[in-house]
Amino acid sequence: MKAARLDALRALFTRHQIEAMLVAQPHNVGYLSGFTGTFGQLLITRDAAYLVTDFRYTEQAAAQASLFQVLHQNPQGMVHSLHELLLRHGVRRVGFEGNFLAHDTFRTYGQVLDGAIELVPASNLVEKLRTVKDEDEIARMRQAAALADRAFAQILGSIRPGVSERQVALELEYLMKQAGASAVSFDIIVASGARSALPHGVASEKQIAKGDLVTLDFGCIVQEYCSDMTRTVVVGEPSEEQRRIYGIVFEAQARGVAAARAGLTGREADAVCRDYISTQGYGDKFGHSTGHGVGRYIHEGPALSLRGEEMLAAGMVVTIEPGIYLPGWGGVRIEDMVLITETGCEPLSRSPKHLIVL
Ligand code: ZN
Ligand code: ZN
Repeated sequence: MKAARLDALRALFTRHQIEAMLVAQPHNVGYLSGFTGTFGQLLITRDAAYLVTDFRYTEQAAAQASLFQVLHQNPQGMVHSLHELLLRHGVRRVGFEGNFLAHDTFRTYGQVLDGAIELVPASNLVEKLRTVKDEDEIARMRQAAALADRAFAQILGSIRPGVSERQVALELEYLMKQAGASAVSFDIIVASGARSALPHGVASEKQIAKGDLVTLDFGCIVQEYCSDMTRTVVVGEPSEEQRRIYGIVFEAQARGVAAARAGLTGREADAVCRDYISTQGYGDKFGHSTGHGVGRYIHEGPALSLRGEEMLAAGMVVTIEPGIYLPGWGGVRIEDMVLITETGCEPLSRSPKHLIVL
């Protein structure tokens, strides 16, 4: 695992006035250590790094977390084990994930540390680091996006009247896993006809019918990293209105991709898509944010939304996914996952974006 990730975390210690950091959130544990087991916590001090787990994971942890000293938790449990390590290193102030640690565990720490060591809330430290991807992470995400692209090209042949949304979703999942994905990055959305007006319409038993718009929002996981893409297709000759709404979303999405670059805030990137849709008269029919970061988890920072304060930076991987949803009629969304660069962005999703008529 990359020493650079540990160095980057340690570089934040001074600003947060901590001498060490406890990390328990599984994606953060995986990011810093490489360990993918389901039971393990990290303690990172200025000059040491520990992974505390139990006997089930000893071998796996030693193989995956080469920069960490792997220890078994002692019989009294995880908190006592970490307490011992904190004492050994003379730590007086230790950061913890305020956005993750359960209240019960926090109280247990309070009792065990007994005021001698101060627990300092340090939320989102690792999450912030995770927003900017390194070469290794980008390579994995490129592969996850490519698998989704390939599955999309293959699934088109199966979308026809009489086939249920669930069948399409199952086949998509099969195609991605067969090609090497370890899992889907979230429950696949297949929303057809009037259901396509539901931005999060997880595949149902509804059968696809002639004239339906069909929104497919899906992605897969390759070596712990997610992909995320959406395409909307139409079954049978599209109506005037379907073409028109599709054209507006297509243009909004293209403008978003053209504008995205390092230095823009999430709010500014969001505005590019939102303002265009508003000028076309559908601003109130675009009720979600324009995009989000993607990585080990499907929804990470930064947010491309009305409240997106964070600035886009080179190496971030985000989605650009405007949509228009008309209740009772249907909806259109187009989503690419893109890599932000200094001068623009590089789409990692490469499936065609013109209206595909099946
Ligand atoms: Zn998506
Ligand atoms: Zn998305």
